[in-house]
Amino acid sequence: MDFKQIVSHCKEYGFVYQSSEIYDGLAAVYDYGPYGVALKNNLKQFWWKSMVQMHENIVGIDSSIFMHPKIWKASGHVDAFNDPLVDNKDSKKRYRADQLIEGYTDKIEAKIKKDVEKARKKFGDDFDEQQFRTTNGRIIDRQAKIDDILGRMNSYLTAEDMAGLKNLIVELEIACPVSGSKEWTDVRQFNLMFSTQYGGAVGEDKLYLRPETAQGIFVNFANVAKTSRQKIPFGIAQIGKAFRNEIVARQFIFRMREFEQMEMQFFVKPGTELDWYEQWKAKRMKWHNALGVPTSKLRFHDHESLAHYANAAADIEFEFPFGFKELEGIHSRTDFDLNAHQELSGKKLQYFDPTVNENYVPYVVETSIGADRMFLAQVSLNLVEEEVPDADGKGSTRTVMKFHPAIAPIKCAVLPLLKNHEGLVKASEDILSDLRVSTDVQYDAKDAIGRRYRRQDAIGTPFCVTVDHQTLEDQTVTLRDRDSLEQIRIPMSEVRKEVVKKTSMDDLLLATK
Ligand code: ATP
Repeated sequence: MDFKQIVSHCKEYGFVYQSSEIYDGLAAVYDYGPYGVALKNNLKQFWWKSMVQMHENIVGIDSSIFMHPKIWKASGHVDAFNDPLVDNKDSKKRYRADQLIEGYTDKIEAKIKKDVEKARKKFGDDFDEQQFRTTNGRIIDRQAKIDDILGRMNSYLTAEDMAGLKNLIVELEIACPVSGSKEWTDVRQFNLMFSTQYGGAVGEDKLYLRPETAQGIFVNFANVAKTSRQKIPFGIAQIGKAFRNEIVARQFIFRMREFEQMEMQFFVKPGTELDWYEQWKAKRMKWHNALGVPTSKLRFHDHESLAHYANAAADIEFEFPFGFKELEGIHSRTDFDLNAHQELSGKKLQYFDPTVNENYVPYVVETSIGADRMFLAQVSLNLVEEEVPDADGKGSTRTVMKFHPAIAPIKCAVLPLLKNHEGLVKASEDILSDLRVSTDVQYDAKDAIGRRYRRQDAIGTPFCVTVDHQTLEDQTVTLRDRDSLEQIRIPMSEVRKEVVKKTSMDDLLLATK
């Protein structure tokens, strides 16, 4: 499905709404509806269980959004959490300079892709994409151009050379997508942190809304190490809100100004961090694969320009409807954060390692994923239109969300064949009240059964129980499978056990091991 259809499906079926919609909305802020919050909670639960429950040496915390302003000084966010901002003088539209340049190279990339597809058609089964890409002159030239532009952009970004970025935009003759104008202001740094006032008590310091959850973990390192009796290597996990005043916040919930992060900081012995970094890269990819995301839709992207705190960093990119983009970051953050907090707070953030009889500031490997981006990835992957046979044997199209059953918002719908039939309604209610104890259920008695199935397909419900006249005779019901469309007859008394088994998160968690 295209991106527009995905966004409108999310709204129409109660997954995601624009925030403050009756007041015409607030840009890049969104609210989750009844099915959306259920799906998001399930994704968060899968992440939390796979980290905290499945690892003896990872514990959770929930730190506050408001923190001492010095934390953001120590972390480098006050001085360096900037994006390069540029305005078009004619349209007055605001852009991130690096995104404008990447938009330019994306276009070259699209041309390469087109050539590859043409060749694939021409050569058929014998086509070797890798060979074609490395031997075709036109593609080699185009790829070299992309590499040169991105290479220069990254070195300007690392050196914070704003004039270099501006010159590159001018040299490439990049035009504003809105006005077509090439008249740009100078590129300048823009800090992404939101600030507020804290009851006047903090003196002249501003209070910031946290732009990442990680710092809440670092400043609690000593507390957790002491109270959890964990030994290095160990991790601290946290799920929580983060806020960034993004310059350009398009693409629905991909880039929001208020969003949720799922972060885990893994504290290790200095010198072992790159080994752990590789292990966490592999483990996180396994987590995504466990959910059934095809390997062709995921890839690693190693960072060319490293953040001030990192000695290695990679993104897990997912193929969103608008291309491969960052879904998760895995960063080897060295001892930068703990050292900085130790220095500014004057409190020791060291660990005594009994295996080497020595104190040290641990190194950190971080995994950081946006819950909202993960939500968008799952929705865009699983929302499909497909042809299915009708009851009368003819084909029809259905819209279905093929979530893994364990993360689907509603696990089972109970449908009486007739809505006014006392016996059928009573039997349905009995099944519902039994099922409700274990899982998320829904009752639907309106319209023909076929239409009710379609409604459940559209929100991704993996199972539907239909209560019909035979139920009243032999206490059996049909259990319909969303994906195979298969219907089996089972005793009413077994519905709960069966649905719980088929929608359990256990298999998902096992697959992450
Ligand atoms: P980007 O380059 O897309 O701005 P980033 O590199 O700044 O992302 P990180 O600081 O590594 O992102 O944050 C970790 C994760 O948090 C990202 O992989 C993403 O899933 C999520 N995230 C970051 N910014 C946003 C945002 N504005 N809206 C939604 N999710 C976000």
